Amino acid sequence: MANKRDYYEVMGVPKNASEDEIKKAYRKLAKKYHPDLHPGDKNAEEKFKELNEAYEVLSNKDKRARYDQFGHAGVDPNFGGGAAGGAGGDPFGGMGGFDDIFDSFFGGASPFGGFGGFGGRRSSPNAPKRGTDVEANLVIEFEEAAKGCRKTITYDKVEECSDCHGSGAKAGTKATTCPACGGTGQVRVTQNTFMGVVQTTRTCDRCHGTGKVISTPCPTCHGKGYVRTRKSVEINVPAGIDNQQVLNVPGQGNAGTNGGPAGDLHLIVSVRPHSLFERKGSDIWCDMPVTFAEAALGGEVVVPTLDGKVSYQLREGTQPGDIFKLKGKGMAKLNGRGYGDQYVRMVLEVPKNLTMKQKELLKKFEDSTSDKNYQKSKGFFEKLRQKFGD
Ligand SMILES: [Zn+2]
Ligand SMILES: [Zn+2]
Repeated sequence: MANKRDYYEVMGVPKNASEDEIKKAYRKLAKKYHPDLHPGDKNAEEKFKELNEAYEVLSNKDKRARYDQFGHAGVDPNFGGGAAGGAGGDPFGGMGGFDDIFDSFFGGASPFGGFGGFGGRRSSPNAPKRGTDVEANLVIEFEEAAKGCRKTITYDKVEECSDCHGSGAKAGTKATTCPACGGTGQVRVTQNTFMGVVQTTRTCDRCHGTGKVISTPCPTCHGKGYVRTRKSVEINVPAGIDNQQVLNVPGQGNAGTNGGPAGDLHLIVSVRPHSLFERKGSDIWCDMPVTFAEAALGGEVVVPTLDGKVSYQLREGTQPGDIFKLKGKGMAKLNGRGYGDQYVRMVLEVPKNLTMKQKELLKKFEDSTSDKNYQKSKGFFEKLRQKFGD
């Protein structure tokens, strides 16, 4: 124990600090080094342990007095009295002991309730715990996103073992109360040191804190009480869902423990692109190729929509790039009423691979046209003449 830091130094308080000052210092540092705030940070974890050890001693009148007089030797359970069964010199039995400190300190209410389950909720290994969420992917067609659909999702999740109903004990047998801790999951370790009796609490080794032991484990789940299984669930995909949106299916995630509720299923939706339509919000867009003659003459054209083909009356003299709107022919609005619109953009296709005869006809036609037929060209060439002359 030669390397141990002085407890007052650990807590950053003077030797004559009051109980209140020690409490305050502890709260401040515990928040700073709490492992939930530094996941995976070994240094913070060590600091937190060291802090709790220091606090356990300095917050207890007797221990503090012994520590003041004899230093670490005065409060070390391994010193003089023989090592406690497997505690390995840690008088608090790891993380399990911390909650006790908070319990005595805050009357059971966790001061860090917001930091992810520290405090009261962790104190009982038998407390109901919600299952974790599961993620799965769902690929749907463009039309299915537009209209909504019903889908069967197959995915893996953790479920309560149906053979033992989560007990982990083979059918016909029962988990029994742990004889080592009497079902509390915690054991008190009493040690006689040369300074007197020291009592600490740690998680029961025999039952790992569950308070129960299984003599004949369930062969299906090997005593775990849960199994990983492939599950299918049928869900409604709402109309209007978009690519990369996440559908939450409550209660279809991993099973909870000790009667806690199951987690949720998060479905990440991928919508396959459509060969004709492009989505923009709740509207859809499509390009519509028209021939030179169709655009010039106008008339009926067939336009694709999500509901199938519809005919559309093209006006005479339609220009390339003209856009017309089909009201209410877009996607359903997610969680809202109504539909977006469909926009159709005219794309002029210029004919290729003309025969001699076609070329002659076209030439004849061209010769017959005048400025009256080509307003844009007329305007353009007028401007050209004004700028640069003939
Ligand atoms: Zn089982
Ligand atoms: Zn036990």
